[in-house]
Amino acid sequence: MNTTKQVYIASNGCNRRLLDADRVKRYFLLNDWKITDSPRNADFNLFFASALNRVRIDESFDIIERLSRFPGETIVLGCIMEVAPTEFHEKWNGKFLAVKDMNKFDSFFPGIRIKYRDVSPGNTPAKPGNIYKTVSPDVFIRQRLSLALNPAKVGDKLYSYLHRNQREDYNTTFIWVSNGCPNKCSFCAERKVIGDLHSRPVTEIVKEYGKMLDEGRRNFEFIGDDVGSYGLDINSSFPDLIEALNRRDAGHSVNWVIKHLHPKFIIKYQDDIINIARSGKVKEIICCFQTGSNRLLDLMNRQHSIEEVIITLKRFREALPEIKLATNIIVGFPTETDEEFLQTLAVFDEVYFDRVHLIKYYDAEGSDSHEIHPKISDESIARRIKSAKKFLKQRDIYFQTRD
Ligand code: SF4
Repeated sequence: MNTTKQVYIASNGCNRRLLDADRVKRYFLLNDWKITDSPRNADFNLFFASALNRVRIDESFDIIERLSRFPGETIVLGCIMEVAPTEFHEKWNGKFLAVKDMNKFDSFFPGIRIKYRDVSPGNTPAKPGNIYKTVSPDVFIRQRLSLALNPAKVGDKLYSYLHRNQREDYNTTFIWVSNGCPNKCSFCAERKVIGDLHSRPVTEIVKEYGKMLDEGRRNFEFIGDDVGSYGLDINSSFPDLIEALNRRDAGHSVNWVIKHLHPKFIIKYQDDIINIARSGKVKEIICCFQTGSNRLLDLMNRQHSIEEVIITLKRFREALPEIKLATNIIVGFPTETDEEFLQTLAVFDEVYFDRVHLIKYYDAEGSDSHEIHPKISDESIARRIKSAKKFLKQRDIYFQTRD
């Protein structure tokens, strides 16, 4: 009788969670377990559940419930347990583990030889796929049909397809530089689940970078929960890191994406970033300014003004005409007025962005902004998102929505 255990691993989360899913997969393979692509024959179903917004949270709870119908034991991983704690504990009484506690992962599998902490962080995220395709094909088909029958969504898809060269490049090698975040953005519940800042030593990151270069990799993203905070816990800094990486790749033609960097650090380190970017290796910077209103930036606890963002990004555009700039904006943060929303749109007439994520504000229970009132109605948010799409289409700016 074959006693090798089989594990099904899935995630509907971001690249950081997909990288975690990849690490978990390698953990089981190193321990001679099997990975299966279906929960039907799995002994364990491991699900990294996204808690990015209301749509994703609903999807996560639905997938958790569907997974729990299969014979194997389901274990929920990721962020959802701290972002929506009350709902999570109402809906799930099985095993779970938050991102910041992943070093306790072995406790679910007594007798396992190789420990989670001894498995190196990976460079390639697990493939997300559509979980419903495997878990509930009927839901997958219904989703496709409802998309095909919704003219507004078809229009957005078509616009997205026509601007496909402005999309993110997914052929990227990821290198973890730090975990955790010391910032306190009020809309962010995730920081409570990712824990305190832990930066890897510069030497260790540079060594891994050199190995990837030797393997022929050329497209890189240095990833962390806030890459701008890199080094603050080890007497180092983001400029120290990029200078060391820049020295290591001398003679190679490489592409970098600078992302997950709080705008206050893009402002603070602008000279260092521009100096290195003049080499041509920095292809894209993602500066999530979130809102064009200084009053809302204060409420979000972002610690910079919109004028500082605009001045900094104009400098980037002047010094580096080829660089791609991308951003996220939050629509419907508590107390946001129509005028303040128009201030956000006005930023796009000051600085050209190649790509924008329109994010419908999600009132996460675990966030500080959960306490800020009044909330903006779903109708007002939908109206603002609709007008933002029209505004961006008129300017030929590629956008994605997460609602
Ligand atoms: S920098 Fe990012 S991870 Fe950190 S608190 Fe702000 S939004 Fe959250």
